[in-house]
Formats: sequence, structure tokens, C-alpha cells
Amino acid sequence: MNKLIDPFQRTIEYLRISVTDKCNYRCSYCMPEQGAHPEGNHTEYLSYDEIARLAKVFSELGVWKFRLTGGEPLIRKNLHELAAKISALPNVKDIALSTNAERLAEQAAALKAAGVNRANVSIDTLDPIKFERITRGGDITKVRAGIDAAIAVGMTPVKLNMVVMKNTNFEDIPSMLDYAIEKGAYLRFIETMPIGSAGISVMDEHVSAERILSKVKAHLGSELIPFVDNKEAGPARVFKIANSEAKIGVISAVSQHFCETCNRVRLTARGTLALCLGQEDSVDLRAPLRSGASDDELKAIILDAISKKPERHHFNENRHNIQFRQMVSLGG
Ligand code: SAM
Ligand code: SF4
Repeated sequence: MNKLIDPFQRTIEYLRISVTDKCNYRCSYCMPEQGAHPEGNHTEYLSYDEIARLAKVFSELGVWKFRLTGGEPLIRKNLHELAAKISALPNVKDIALSTNAERLAEQAAALKAAGVNRANVSIDTLDPIKFERITRGGDITKVRAGIDAAIAVGMTPVKLNMVVMKNTNFEDIPSMLDYAIEKGAYLRFIETMPIGSAGISVMDEHVSAERILSKVKAHLGSELIPFVDNKEAGPARVFKIANSEAKIGVISAVSQHFCETCNRVRLTARGTLALCLGQEDSVDLRAPLRSGASDDELKAIILDAISKKPERHHFNENRHNIQFRQMVSLGG
């Protein structure tokens, strides 16, 4: 089997699939208030059958881990049908979901039954008013119900993703820690990234991972022990909290990039394969897919794309270089 190995000897075995670039929230760091895109004709979006066909091709190239993301994936109808198609592929070992969880309570059971075994939920504060302000309209009660549902159906570990902003929710780190520990969830602190106009606009609220970790230690009053998860190499630096089973992570794309272990590429809802979160390099898969390319032809296009995967992003050197991309299309 051909494997996806890039020029820097990284094996690509993880595909993040955006099923939509629309969202029911407008998080300040992710989406401009007016939304991110001109309304697209719905034929611009890959159908579930088209996504599943590409997932099959990727799985035959060694990809075994998939994530359904967006935009907000749960606003696309019957997402569990897509999950079932992907989990039926022979080499697939892991299907995860990234969501704002507003609609998770009513979908968790169907998604779990269709093979979605893990969920990451964006939640930046527990304060209802602040939450509504950050997300521009979000309802924390529904999100908390979504998290409870994910835990109840066993979509575990539930990871909570908190984008930390200096003047907005830095002071919420202690209450978020208490909540995560109470729920047995794994809380990850994410540094703001300068992607798209919304991401760039919050960079003056950037807090470094080191400052976040000091705040965590001050609250817990206990040691953080570096933890290496052999099962799951990811972008987070993970720490176990001394004398507890709880773990926390920090994703420091800006203060300390982790590109040398990158194992992933991203498929956008409109069928573009994005090779790096922080670089423009991408390849269109929708046109060949729709003009009748065979599986072998699609594999050749994907192999060629991977041979051009950039080495790393340059968030530090140039904060304005990815102004025209949007996190909401790239899927995070
Ligand atoms: N709607 C889903 C959600 O919010 O989890 C999935 C898509 S969202 C684009 C994926 C992740 O990207 C979220 O955890 C979000 O916090 C993160 N994100 C978006 N914009 C960001 C930025 N400028 N800096 C850091 N993380 C960002
Ligand atoms: Fe929507 Fe997720 Fe972006 Fe928030 S972070 S606007 S929930 S896509």
C-alpha cells in the first residue's frame, strides 16, 4: 500500500473533514460578526457520498483517524449517516467530532451508535453572559447539556477546548479546571492563532502557554507532571495533575510550534485539501471527483499533494500571512 509520507518524513494518517463552513455561533476569534463566506450554492459542498468516497481513498493510503468538524458539523443534517459510512471502511480505527455542542444533546446517541467514539467541545467560559458574548449568541446551558450527553453515551474522553484570551476569559481558568475535573473531562487550553481576520483581531489578547500553566498551577496548588500519550500524538503538551487522574493540555501553536510531529491534512466542505493550517498550499479534489476520476487517479493527486506539504507554519514570523483564510473553513 502506498503510504502518505511527506518530504519531511512525517506520515500522514489523520484527516480532518469539515462538513460545512457555516456555524450557528460567531466566536470572536474564529468568525467575523457578519459570517465568514458568501452564501454558497449547496452543490458547492461535497455530499456525504462524495466525502465517504474520499475517506475510502484516504484510508487506502494509510489514514485511519478521521475527525468531523466545521464550521459547526452538527448543523448539517443527519451527520450520523456520514459517520456510519466512514466507520464501515475497513481500515478506520477512530472517528472523532469537534463541536460547539449546542446541538449535541439530541444527536450524541445516534453519533455514538454510528461510530463516533470521541468528542472535543469548544467552551471558553462557564459564565452564561460572557459565553453569549464570546460566541455572539451561544447558550451555555445547551452546551453543558451536550457535554453531559457525550459523557453519558461514552464519547470519551470528552476534551474541552478553551481558547484563552487575556482580557476576556483568562480569569475563568480556575472555574474551567474545577468543571473539567468534576466531569472527568480533559481540558485543553488553546493559544489564539492568527488565522483569518477574526483570528488576527484577537492576537492582542494572546496569552502564552507558560502564563496559562502558571495560572493552572496557582489554582491547583499541585504539581503538573508531563505526560506522554503513546497512543495519541497530538498538538497538545499534556500534563497529569499530581495525586489525581485528571489531565490538562496546552496547545501552543504560536509560542512553541509543534509542526515537526504534524500527522494531518484537512478536507474543506467544498472539497479542497488544505496541507497546512498556517499556509495557503492546497489542492482541489472536488473537480476530479466530479469529473469521474478513478480511485487510483484520486490517490495520485493526493500523493502528489502530500509531496508538497509545507514544513511548518510561520505564525511567529508573520502574523498577517493568513489573513484570507478562515478557521471556520479549515476546521480548526
Ligand atoms: N465548531 C466546532 C468547534 O467550535 O469546536 C468545530 C470547528 S472550530 C473552527 C475548531 C476549533 O478551532 C475550536 O476548538 C476553536 O476553538 C478553534 N479555533 C477557532 N479559531 C481559532 C483561533 N483564532 N485561535 C485558536 N483556536 C481557534
Ligand atoms: Fe463556530 Fe466553532 Fe468557529 Fe465558534 S469556533 S464560530 S463554534 S466554527
